[in-house]
This record gives sequence, structure tokens and C-alpha cells, in this order.
Amino acid sequence: MTSFNPLSIFMDARRITRGTPEMLASRQRERLNELVRFARANSRFYAEKYRGLPDDVTDVRLLPPVTKVELMEHFDDVVTDASVRKADVLQYISDLGNIGKPYLGKYMVWTTSGTTGTPGIFLEDKNWDAVITAVNVLRMGGEWYNMEVIRGMMKAGGNSASVFAGNGHFLGVTMLERQRASNRSRGKRIRLIPVTLPLHEIVKQLNDLQPAMFSGYASALGLLAQEQLEGRLNIHPSIVISSAEPLSDENRELIQKAFGVPPRNNYGCSEGGVMGYECNHGKMHINADWIIFEPVDANHNPVPAGQLSNRTLITNLANRVMPIIRYELGDRVTLLPQKCDCGITLPLIKVEGRTDEILRFESSSEGLIPVLPLALWSVIKETPGVLRFQAIQTAPDSLKIRLEAKHTEEYQAVWQRVYVNARDYLIQQGLDNVNIVRAEEPPMRDPKSGKFRNVWAEKFNGLK
Ligand SMILES: [Zn+2]
Repeated sequence: MTSFNPLSIFMDARRITRGTPEMLASRQRERLNELVRFARANSRFYAEKYRGLPDDVTDVRLLPPVTKVELMEHFDDVVTDASVRKADVLQYISDLGNIGKPYLGKYMVWTTSGTTGTPGIFLEDKNWDAVITAVNVLRMGGEWYNMEVIRGMMKAGGNSASVFAGNGHFLGVTMLERQRASNRSRGKRIRLIPVTLPLHEIVKQLNDLQPAMFSGYASALGLLAQEQLEGRLNIHPSIVISSAEPLSDENRELIQKAFGVPPRNNYGCSEGGVMGYECNHGKMHINADWIIFEPVDANHNPVPAGQLSNRTLITNLANRVMPIIRYELGDRVTLLPQKCDCGITLPLIKVEGRTDEILRFESSSEGLIPVLPLALWSVIKETPGVLRFQAIQTAPDSLKIRLEAKHTEEYQAVWQRVYVNARDYLIQQGLDNVNIVRAEEPPMRDPKSGKFRNVWAEKFNGLK
């Protein structure tokens, strides 16, 4: 039996970090078999789905994949605790005051909108929490917090700032709120700065706080690095952590140049938690002892190492309350065949960059003002009734929105709310001159790449 005792998780993860591929494979087999047995015994959904399969399953490829739509539709049958009801969870998360507070006193709730529409709700139990904590302390802690960083943090008083969207139960903000709640005196030093604030306001708050630890979306960090290089931002963090969006080479360089430290990067999602982290050689290692990670094509056939996948199947070996087994993620990744020179033997991956872009609008008095894709995304996507949207800049002062409502008959009302929220947000950024136009057509995939983008700019005269 797998022990979820924090110390044994820590000790085991330490052996695996630099262990042999055989050790890793044997952990995966044991943990998968236990998880599948548990899911069949306690989840009506998985019991039905796995009917007819052998009692012992140690090869994940024997199991049928699942999608978010499926798990959300059968939520009450998927979960393994009968006291968890989807209707209650929805009620619970409708109150943003509950961010970071455990549901039923024991489960963290994370929501995700994803890019393609269906909102997801995921629960984290104490087992998974113990794994995340031990593995993060060991792996990210060990790689990222060297003596220089720790000294710097102590000197700067240990303040930390995170620039995230705060208007939903997203993974990052939920973990942050929980950290704050767990220690009142330290809680005061940990600040969430909403990414939806105007840039000059984010800059002001950072200058006032002088964080030693500074984290946020890659695109926000890139923009703030520019602010630092141009002299408006003046902070001296010992460590800069990028998450939720792939970090482009351009932003990596910009951050290093602006803050004098290499950005640290991790890779995660609400369904799998922190799945990967970058080592000191700048390579992304997967926590493959707790996540089975399968790059696949559109028909769920395995994609060999060295080739870009169309999507990814993940199996979360730690979570019991809501089993995530061969769950389809839209992420396109490449599993790298080579070993890393750093000595860590966990597999290496490369995650394909997000295709959303920073928009730059011409304001009436202050020149070009940048708008972050994830900020605009959170403003529109969190508007009640929105299923899918795309926001496209079509001119220096024009934003077109394609919208699909959850219920077609409510389209007008939803559009009104989206319009008001987007307009208020742009006004707050100093962009009261931007026209917001409703698109005739619904949101759609890019005809060439087949990808679904949320926020981008069309080419237009003079700009971009
Ligand atoms: Zn490495």
C-alpha cells in the first residue's frame, strides 16, 4: 500500500528523483493498480467504465480515456465520497469568499475554464495535498532555493507578491489563499495582486511591497520586466517564478535582464496539480512518480518521444476523492528522448507555447496601453453565462468579441454582461476610447492550425 505519510512520500520521492527508470516504472505500476482498484470500488462511474477489465491493471493503456465533459456530466458518480454533490460544490464556489477554504472541511476546490469552453471543477484530497507539498518542497525547493536566494529573501524581509487572476477558484490563487490562511503573521507578507488591475497600479503595488519572491503568469512577468527595464518598476526579487503559461525564450531573457535572476518555471493544471518543474539547467522535468503523462495524437494513440503530440493524457496517482485516470488535456507537448545533464532522471518534456497574445491599444491620451490576455480572459470568461469566447483586436482602438452563451436563449443577457465587464475593464486600464464590437460569427478554431485561441490581434495598418 502506498503510504501518504508526508515523510515517507518525501523520502520516496527523493530516491526516485535520481533513481533508475525501472524504479520509476515500478512505482507507476503499483500506484496505478491501487488507484484503479480504489476507483472501481468507490466510484460508480469508473466501476461501470472498467467493467470487464482484469482485476489488476498495471498498464495504463488498457484503460479507456476520459474527458472533462464526461467527468462533469457524471460528477456525482465520479467522486468517491458520497457526501460530495455537484450542486453543493457549485453553490460553494459561487462565493468567492470561499477561495482557499476547504469544502466540507477537507477538500480544496479548483475550477478551470480551459480554452474550449466546458468549465471544470476538481477536488483535491488530503493524500494529494501531502504529495504536492512533499514533492514541491523536495524538487522545486531543492532546485530553486539555493543559499543566495534564501539570503536574499531574508534580507528583503520575505515579502512575496503574485500577479494572478483573483476572480475564480483557480489553482494558483487557491493555493496562495490557503498559504495565507495557514499562518496569520506570514499571511500579511504574502500578497495577491490582481492581474486585472491597470499596469501602473500593479507597478505601484510592487514598488510599495518590494517582494523578495515574485510570481505570476509568464506574459505578465514579461510585461513587468519591460516596466523594470524602462525604470518605472524598481524591485529586487531574489526569485521570480513563472506559471500557468509557457515561458517564451523572449520573456525568459527579458526577465533575466530586468531582475538579474533566471526565471523559475513550473507546469501544472487543476487536474494534475504541479506536474513539472524546471531544473537548474532550464529543462522541464515531469513528476512522473505521481503523474502518468502520455503524449498522444487525436485518436489517443501514443506519440513517440521527440515528436510533438496533439494532446496529452494524464493520470493523477495521488488523488482519491476524484480519480483522474487517462484524462484528456489539450496540451501539446514533446517528450524528450535524452537524459538531462543535471542528474535528475525524471523524464523531460517541452510544452508548446500558448498562442494568446498581449494586445496593445492606442489610448486617447497615453499612447499604447498593453492588455494582458489572461486578464481579459478572466474578465470575460468569469462573466456568468459564458460558454466560449474569442476576443480579437481588429484595429488600434477596436475589440471584436465572439461569444457563445451556455444557454442560447440567454445570449442577449449574457452579451450585455460581457459588454459591460469588458468595457469597465478597458476603462480601468485607461482605454475609454476602445470600441467593443459583437461578432456575427460564433467562436471557432483557427482554420489553418486547428487550434482554439482566446485572445489575439489581427494584422491591421500601422500596428503589430
Ligand atoms: Zn535537469
